[in-house]
Amino acid sequence: MISLYSGEFLEVSIKDLMIPSERVAHVQVGNSLEHALLVLTKSGYTAIPVLDPHYRLMGLISTPIIMDSILGLQRIEFEQLERKRVEEAMNTKIPRINIHSTLKSSLDLLVDHPFLCIEDDSGIFEGILTRRTVLLKLSQQVKRYNKK
Ligand code: AMP
Repeated sequence: MISLYSGEFLEVSIKDLMIPSERVAHVQVGNSLEHALLVLTKSGYTAIPVLDPHYRLMGLISTPIIMDSILGLQRIEFEQLERKRVEEAMNTKIPRINIHSTLKSSLDLLVDHPFLCIEDDSGIFEGILTRRTVLLKLSQQVKRYNKK
């Protein structure tokens, strides 16, 4: 039986597992939906964080959200891509975790979300924690334990 309470896994700091903000593809609230679609398509990610000019986390934007916001009654209104801003379409109800939290407190959220946005005490975006990183860490832990 693996003891997950060894301090090596559940107590690990979010800081040590996160992808830091400088390596996270993101858009700003004032960018056009066209720009956001470009970043999403080029990066290959399904959803990316939306920040304000002070680097505060404002929400998430995804390709399905963009497509939904330019969907007219009869057709897809592609001309809206240029006109609409990211802040008009983004999802603002997103889970956020604090940079000082541990993995234990984030596990439940990761069941429902492929990644979580991390912010500091004043709401400044610090990076993301992906489900992939956590599973990778767990896999390393299991392998290490099996060697003992
Ligand atoms: P992954 O677990 O690596 O497949 O990532 C899951 C999701 O996290 C991706 O679909 C993206 O929405 C987001 N993500 C992962 N890495 C990045 C990154 N470097 N920049 C922006 N979003 C990312």
